[in-house]
Amino acid sequence: MNEVATGDIELHWDVFVTPGIPVVISDLPPGTKQRMWSPISSTLISGKRDAVLVDAFITVEQAGALVDWVAASGKNLTTIYATHGHGDHFFGASTVLQRFPRARLVATPDVVKTMRQQASPQSLASFWNPRFPGQISDHLVLAEELTENVIDLEGHDLVVVPLGHTDTDNTTCLHVPSIGLVVAGDAAYNGVHLHLGESNPHTRREWIAALDTIEALHPRAVIRCWNSTLIASIRARSGVRRAPSNRNLGVAHQ
Ligand SMILES: [Zn+2]
Repeated sequence: MNEVATGDIELHWDVFVTPGIPVVISDLPPGTKQRMWSPISSTLISGKRDAVLVDAFITVEQAGALVDWVAASGKNLTTIYATHGHGDHFFGASTVLQRFPRARLVATPDVVKTMRQQASPQSLASFWNPRFPGQISDHLVLAEELTENVIDLEGHDLVVVPLGHTDTDNTTCLHVPSIGLVVAGDAAYNGVHLHLGESNPHTRREWIAALDTIEALHPRAVIRCWNSTLIASIRARSGVRRAPSNRNLGVAHQ
């Protein structure tokens, strides 16, 4: 758990990483017996009473473990924010909302468009359900469209920052200026091969610019959704380090 005092109110953040899970595919690379969907993370930002969750996994089982973790925090979940429209960031939201029915799933209007495509019968039938048979909720929920770029958490601004194309179009990160936190979604990776399947040379430049946008926020901590290691929490450090291999923004993992 990390905390920073701002006036009389303290904000905390913590990260839940779900383990990698098997993916059912028929075109395994030679010599490979099992393909795994890499571990992914969800971030809980909380005040004295309320909390905001950022991203919400794929399967019912993953989301069940996530919602147990959120419930154990004792906080009142008001909002789930999806950084972008890929299914592995919001398919689990319906499971979380069953436990916290008064919470709202929100995203930018452009992200909701991508969600609509990802949750379409065609996308589910051709991509998601074959890979995770029987594991994805039958009642997927799309986000409400945000009308402004700020989510309030007990007087603190959680600011939506558009990043353009990173691992897909119209991605965002969530910036919490009062504690120097950036929840980067899939703009930044940790030890996992980047998803380049939706990019081209032009949009990969957009992705590099997105990292510059994050760096310009001078965050003390950057949370990456893709994580190669299982961690319960990430400790904030001052400053931002950039790994030379893929320009990931760095924070220490413990
Ligand atoms: Zn993604």
